[in-house]
Amino acid sequence: MDDDRLEVDLSELEGLTYTCVDGCALCCLCQPELLPDEEKLFRGDPMLSDGLADKHISPDVAGAAIKLQGAHGACHFLRQRRCAIYTRRPHYCRAFPISVYAGWRIQMNANQSCRGMGLPGEGMTEAGKALLAQYGQGELMDELRGSREVFAEFSSNTRDAKVAQSVPSLRDAAGALMDDLTEELGLSRVLTYAESGGTRQNSSAQDIARRARNAEPEVDVQELGVSIGTELFDLPDLSYLPVYVAEDLTWKIFKLVGDVVVGFVLHEDGRTEEFSRIAPSEVTLMPLTAGGRKAFEEYLRVINRRDCFVGHAAHLLDLEDYSFNYAQAYLGAVGNAAVDLWWRSSFLARQRGEVTLDQHGVKEGIIFFDMDLLDQPTIGAFL
Ligand code: SF4
Ligand code: SF4
Repeated sequence: MDDDRLEVDLSELEGLTYTCVDGCALCCLCQPELLPDEEKLFRGDPMLSDGLADKHISPDVAGAAIKLQGAHGACHFLRQRRCAIYTRRPHYCRAFPISVYAGWRIQMNANQSCRGMGLPGEGMTEAGKALLAQYGQGELMDELRGSREVFAEFSSNTRDAKVAQSVPSLRDAAGALMDDLTEELGLSRVLTYAESGGTRQNSSAQDIARRARNAEPEVDVQELGVSIGTELFDLPDLSYLPVYVAEDLTWKIFKLVGDVVVGFVLHEDGRTEEFSRIAPSEVTLMPLTAGGRKAFEEYLRVINRRDCFVGHAAHLLDLEDYSFNYAQAYLGAVGNAAVDLWWRSSFLARQRGEVTLDQHGVKEGIIFFDMDLLDQPTIGAFL
């Protein structure tokens, strides 16, 4: 790896277009962080601050970020789903729905929780290039040097522990297992392999895939789905719960209360109204139709190309003190993401009264899921 070369990967954006859906404002529920220059502006500009310098900055967040309404509602500047400072909104808001990740290279990802993704409109590649130009070469190179150091240290740790694997091997192995990852038995084998694979350092992708396919299917995937779903909604603070922007653009959050998941409509000012109750154990992974399976597989292929996901698996391996092979950590992360997406899609489909998951059902699950996936802890950094 050449430490002084700026490598940028825009391949995830290729061929995609996007239009912001009027009245959606999902991204205004993510507390926008401010760059140092923006913080100065927000604290000092009377047009933005209405003469009250600190009125808009949250006191509860490390670094500077705009306040939320009612602690867990939308950004302080949102008024009836419209931004009151649209032409002066922070960089964070301008970048959405693109995520910029610095790993061993800069990679741009298209956030599929955005309902405008795929609609005719602005080309995502052009939007990505425009965003890149705003950073400037120097800033990007500084970020890259830092993240390359982190990856170099991680790679050295994997070699010392004899659990190293090349990124192409990880990705090729997951790519070869796509059929397995979209059905229950195959997923169980992959997840069992992740826990007890016995893979040697620098194995080939074929060897990794073969070992995963030959694992005894010991993991109960249905049970794992319920456990992931229960944990997902078991958070005390409403502002940490995942948000689903429904097709009618209502914002929905779900919280575990006792042993039931309570659904709430979330309002801009942070008020909530209950609309549903369901026990997580009542939600089983629904059978996928051919269209649903295709959509599921396409999304897993997107994940498999994301550098931040490789960084996420690296983070997990580091947490486990390098006691697994990197391929096991990676395939375990892909398998868990697949179960999470499958369970969430089934959860939403059940609320709509459906009994199978078709392409639309999986797409709704992805809308609920991708923002959380792009927010998972990882080594490297989101800019
Ligand atoms: S999530 Fe996408 S469609 Fe919704 S407001 Fe943000 S950019 Fe627009
Ligand atoms: S500043 Fe505007 S665009 Fe950004 S989160 Fe707030 S309301 Fe939304």
